[in-house]
Amino acid sequence: MPPIENDTGKSELKSRIQQLIDSNQVVVFSKSYCPYCVKVSFRLQHSLFCPEDGTSYQDMLLEMTGQKTVPNVFINKTHVGGCDKTMQAHKDGSLQQLLNGENESYDYDLIVIGGGSGGLACSKEAAILGKKVMVLDYVVPTPKGTTWGLGGTCVNVGCIPKKLMHQTAMLGTAMQDARKFGWEFEETVKHNWETMRTAVNNYIGSLNWGYRVALRDKNVNYVNAYAEFIEPHKIKATNKRGKETFYTAAKFVLATGERPRYLGIPGDKEYCITSDDLFSLPYCPGKTLVIGASYVALECGGFLAGLGLDVTIMVRSILLRGFDQDMANRAGEHMEEHGVKFLRKYVPIKVEELEAGTPGRLKVTAKSTETDEIIEGEYNTVLIAVGRDACTDKIGLDKAGVKVNSKNGKIPVNDEEQTNVPHIYAIGDILEGKWELTPVAIQAGKLLARRLYRGSTLKCDYINVPTTVFTPLEYGSCGLSEERAIELYGQDNIEVFHSLFWPLEFTVPGRDNNRCYGKIICNKLDDDRVIGFHYLGPNAGEVTQGFGAAMKCRVTKEQLDSTIGIHPTCAEVFTTLEVTKSSGGDITQAGC
Ligand code: FAD
Ligand code: NAP
Repeated sequence: MPPIENDTGKSELKSRIQQLIDSNQVVVFSKSYCPYCVKVSFRLQHSLFCPEDGTSYQDMLLEMTGQKTVPNVFINKTHVGGCDKTMQAHKDGSLQQLLNGENESYDYDLIVIGGGSGGLACSKEAAILGKKVMVLDYVVPTPKGTTWGLGGTCVNVGCIPKKLMHQTAMLGTAMQDARKFGWEFEETVKHNWETMRTAVNNYIGSLNWGYRVALRDKNVNYVNAYAEFIEPHKIKATNKRGKETFYTAAKFVLATGERPRYLGIPGDKEYCITSDDLFSLPYCPGKTLVIGASYVALECGGFLAGLGLDVTIMVRSILLRGFDQDMANRAGEHMEEHGVKFLRKYVPIKVEELEAGTPGRLKVTAKSTETDEIIEGEYNTVLIAVGRDACTDKIGLDKAGVKVNSKNGKIPVNDEEQTNVPHIYAIGDILEGKWELTPVAIQAGKLLARRLYRGSTLKCDYINVPTTVFTPLEYGSCGLSEERAIELYGQDNIEVFHSLFWPLEFTVPGRDNNRCYGKIICNKLDDDRVIGFHYLGPNAGEVTQGFGAAMKCRVTKEQLDSTIGIHPTCAEVFTTLEVTKSSGGDITQAGC
């Protein structure tokens, strides 16, 4: 029979297939000669359905399930997938549950705990694929009482307000540059914290509202309540008035994210703030001590200094642990040159209030990590940015049998984001050993839903994830740090090409001459493939994104050399890198 092409024929075929799925406990669409189909039928002890007009059936099944290959297995109206997925389901016990009809007795096909970057992406995608989905999101107030709306860390207390405040700081620099370009303005330039905070928070409010609307449009049931497991398939949801409601689901996705860690020293929770409080702080923080030296500390310290505040950063050991240290130190030096003070090799031991107020006055006592020296300092605000703890300890994971790494509260998963309990998955910041970045959580959530409900096999690729630290001079990277490349391949087997550069926009104002820097690390054993990309300069996110794509395509040094640059830009430096680090050659840039 020829393939069905007209619309009536197609819709008849669709309802024929749907009827088969609805009226049989097990349906295996197959081809009589396919060994995988025979394997599956043997496992299910069920005969195969081999339609005569197989191509039309396969085309329609592709439309309905995202899977064209056979066998294509349905049990109790649930799409299981092909041979591998069926065997996996047999192994993890979910096949038996489906055969027992256990999926039918649940309130939801999927409950997602946490409505942040990962949870929202996953729940929306599952609902688009026709599943009955609930997402629960609840923000436990900070010790200072700060709370926020739907959308998780990124939107409310992370990427979005951070980047907007970084932009505010950069506008300050742009205004200074503007005078050199001939702009004349008489009045003294000053910044108003309240105006910025209100504008940023109004924008966040519009995003919170947008997320609610998107969930409603896609028929995801959003509940503003705190979720915890009480059984493997059952959760308790407690809303802000303390009302408890119980829900069950066939599958769960954990996407509860992280919250800032405190120091556990006297005065930390009483007098200090974290990034969870900073972006909605009702008053200008004034003279600020930032404790910590990673993404959050350097970004927040950087924009506060850019607003004209007196900022000190207390560093326990090194800047940006895990990042290329040459780059991290260059980013730090630039901050130091622009007025940020660094107290290196100190940790705080006590914070006392000298005077209450908005802001008040605090006394911080710290001790050296190398000697017995004790130092004291006075600040208006102390911002703690010493890392984040996974929100996994109070969600009843023991009741569900989910294994957690007891040292850091992170959840180990396999390469399909599945925990040790087959029907419970986890994504985003709570995963062990994965990147803590918004696009990573979103990608993992979306692909997980497609694998669960559309027969897709595509997994989240956690390798070569591009990222940017929004320090005053931004730092973008993708792939390996120089230290890690040496560790993995040996010094002799890598070649580092590098250059300083002076962005054209900096020349007329005469600032930061040859402070920007580009570097690639190439693997000599593999065709000089670029295994590390590092950029310190303006618009690092925009520059790094494209090179991230190139690295995904396994770009080599030769291909970069044959790429024609866009002039005059900063990114073009990567098309003309000639000096190797090992040569010790001059890398300053004289002109274009
Ligand atoms: P989250 O977005 O944290 O969402 C988890 C949600 O679950 C939260 O709303 C939480 O309240 C809720 N929840 C927790 N427990 C429960 C429960 N039991 N019941 C119901 N709800 C619960 N990433 C970038 O890519 N770029 C950046 O520029 C960037 N900047 C950042 C700046 C700062 C200051 C911070 C702190 C982070 C930044 N990040 C950035 C990281 C990014 O925000 C996270 O990687 C991302 O939000 C993780 O998403 P998630 O879904 O795992 O968790
Ligand atoms: P982090 O990367 O875990 O770094 C914690 C920092 O605090 C380190 O510098 C650490 O120093 C220091 N520290 C820890 N305990 C301390 C103590 N007791 N006293 C003093 N210092 C202490 O944490 P983070 O900056 O909060 O970032 C969390 C995650 O959020 C990041 O991994 C990142 O993925 C994500 N994020 C991304 C962006 C972005 O994409 N631009 C921005 C912000 C956050 P040591 O090195 O000595 O341990």
